[in-house]
Amino acid sequence: MFSDNFRRGEVNTKGMAGSKIASKAADLGWKAFQAVNTLIPEGESIKPSWAAEPLLKSYERTAPPLGFPRETDSLCPTCVKSVRNGVITGEIPLEILKDSHPGEIKAQIVEENGQVLMRKTCPTHGEFVDVLATDARFLQRIEDLFFGRDFKSAEDKHVHHHGTSDIKFGRGAVLTVDLTNRCNMMCNPCFMDANQVGYVHEPTFGDTKQILDNAVSFKPKRQIIILFSGGEPTLSPYFLDAVAYAKKVGFYRILAATNGIRYAEDIEFCKAAKAAGQHGVYLQFDGTNEEDNKHRGVGNLFDVKLKAIENLASVGIKVTLVTTIVNSWNNNGIGSIVKFAAENIDKVQTIAFQPVSFTGRDEDISDKDRIAQRYTLAGMTHDLKDQLGGVLEPMRDWFPLSSYSAFTSVMDMLQGADAPWG
Ligand code: SF4
Repeated sequence: MFSDNFRRGEVNTKGMAGSKIASKAADLGWKAFQAVNTLIPEGESIKPSWAAEPLLKSYERTAPPLGFPRETDSLCPTCVKSVRNGVITGEIPLEILKDSHPGEIKAQIVEENGQVLMRKTCPTHGEFVDVLATDARFLQRIEDLFFGRDFKSAEDKHVHHHGTSDIKFGRGAVLTVDLTNRCNMMCNPCFMDANQVGYVHEPTFGDTKQILDNAVSFKPKRQIIILFSGGEPTLSPYFLDAVAYAKKVGFYRILAATNGIRYAEDIEFCKAAKAAGQHGVYLQFDGTNEEDNKHRGVGNLFDVKLKAIENLASVGIKVTLVTTIVNSWNNNGIGSIVKFAAENIDKVQTIAFQPVSFTGRDEDISDKDRIAQRYTLAGMTHDLKDQLGGVLEPMRDWFPLSSYSAFTSVMDMLQGADAPWG
């Protein structure tokens, strides 16, 4: 009801009052249920075949250190580049990367003047400071809503042996599989530095199959999103084969992170992707007009996006708009993107707003530009409140991705012990 009103541009205060009453009633109902629930003796959890241990009770879930101030593990951005070059040239053996933690330093996460900052000092390259959240209260709320970790990863020694960055709990929500570093665009920013590094890197189809096989070879065996990426993944000669193989392995959320050009140009390609098992796309989408897309260097890029969305909808592939937000470039247009998605709700499933990360092409950005362009999710919630007439409240309407676990936990129980996947 509320979203229908929003889609038509009517902010219905009656609907909002109704939502508040429903929310209060649900809160009271939950408290009453818990009062009775705690009096009943605890039952045994089921042990599903896809997990190595019985389903976790809420009090058995652990959490990493949260809140601020706190110390965390981090990297020196300058050491990272020299270590990476050393690995590529063979001067630094992979074992050193895995076992000796080169480039790793400690960082302090602190609250200063209402913001949350990360401060760290490399003995060789000096001090680094950056902003994690422009509103400390928002980050505090999101951390407080953390649902708790999944199972410890089990039977996984053959895949998880990467040193500090090993996955230790659960399995993440998205497996990104890069198919190529080629691209039919030459953007700035580009997290991947596609087209620029002087060589083509494309794993073989055999490599890609191995990655997908490995993804189901340990526990917990959960359904995750398979995100084919790049570069532009649709340029890979075996893109459709990779989609079909992921489907054969049993994944059903199979997506491509794409600039949309191939889908806009070729409806037959859209049909072939759907037939191979493609469920959706993460479509690069920086704004609802040519001006907000022009920094990518293609004159009619917004038209291309519209055509891609039409073609994809016509074959039944879901579209997630993916907006890289660069402060002072396109953050003023994110409210229009929400309105665009609401007006096209039959074609657009979700929006993924992602603040720019200075990697790939932007790894050597100057401090001055980094400070000016840095954007945080906390800032996004305030911009959306301002641009959408106050309907979205930063301290009320935003939840961490881990909140999904509340629903998946119920599904884990309902599906029972014999379910093939969590
Ligand atoms: S940002 Fe995406 S579309 Fe642009 S050059 Fe990089 S990989 Fe290609």
